[in-house]
Amino acid sequence: MSSLRQHIKKKNMNTEVLKVKKNGHKLKEFSITDIGDDHLYTGLETPMKKDAFKLSDEEKKERIAILFEEIMDVMGLDLNDDSLQGTPNRVAKMYIDEIFSGLNPANKPKVALFDNKYKYNQMLVEKNITFYSNCEHHFVPIIGKAHVAYISSGKVIGLSKLNRIVQYYAKRPQVQERLTNQIAEELKTILQTDDIAVIIDAKHLCVSSRGIKDDTSATVTTYYGGQFNTPEKIRELQNYLNN
Ligand SMILES: [Zn+2]
Repeated sequence: MSSLRQHIKKKNMNTEVLKVKKNGHKLKEFSITDIGDDHLYTGLETPMKKDAFKLSDEEKKERIAILFEEIMDVMGLDLNDDSLQGTPNRVAKMYIDEIFSGLNPANKPKVALFDNKYKYNQMLVEKNITFYSNCEHHFVPIIGKAHVAYISSGKVIGLSKLNRIVQYYAKRPQVQERLTNQIAEELKTILQTDDIAVIIDAKHLCVSSRGIKDDTSATVTTYYGGQFNTPEKIRELQNYLNN
C-alpha cells in the first residue's frame, strides 16, 4: 500500500469521524435516514468547501483513484483482473475532466456579448438542449432536455453559448431545482436582463433504476423571470415548445 493511500485511509476511515457524521447531522427534526430518497434543495449555490480548489486537478484525480479503488476493494472486486485494473483511474479522470468538470469555475464558458443589431425584440427560444447530469444524493444520472428563452435588453449572445451554459451547470452533482435556477441566474447576469425563462424536463435514474423504480415519471422545473412571468408569455413559450 502506498504511503498516500495509507494516509488517506487513516484520515477517512477514522471511526469517530464516521460516527459523528452518521448520528450528529440533522435537518430540522429529520435525520438523514428519515429523509431517505427525498431530494432536498438547500440553496442556489452548489455547496462547496472554502478550500475546494486547493488541490490541482491532477492531485484530485490521484486521490479519487485511490479512494475508488478502496470502494471496489471493499465490495470484494479483484483489482488484479485485467478488466478492472484501470477502472479507478478511469473513474477519477471522468469525474474531474468530464461529468463533474462544471464544479470548477475555470471551466465556465467564456461568453461574448453582441449588440442586438437586428433589433429583434421578441423572445428567442433555444429548445431541446440535451444534457446529462448527476443526482447529488445518489451520484447516478439525471438525463433531460433544457429549454431556455430570453428577450434581449439590447445585447445578444451566440446560440451555442446557451447550450454551453446549460452543459456547464449540468456537469456537477445536482438537484434539478438548483440546475434550473443556476442557469437562469447566469443568463440574467450575462444578458443583463430579468427576461429569462428556463424549463427543464428530466428523468432521474435514482427514481427509475432503483428506489421506487418508476420508469415513466419525469420531473419538470421552471423559471419565469421578468416579462416571462405573465400568463400570455408563458402560453406563447409553451406553444413554441409544443410545436
Ligand atoms: Zn437521487
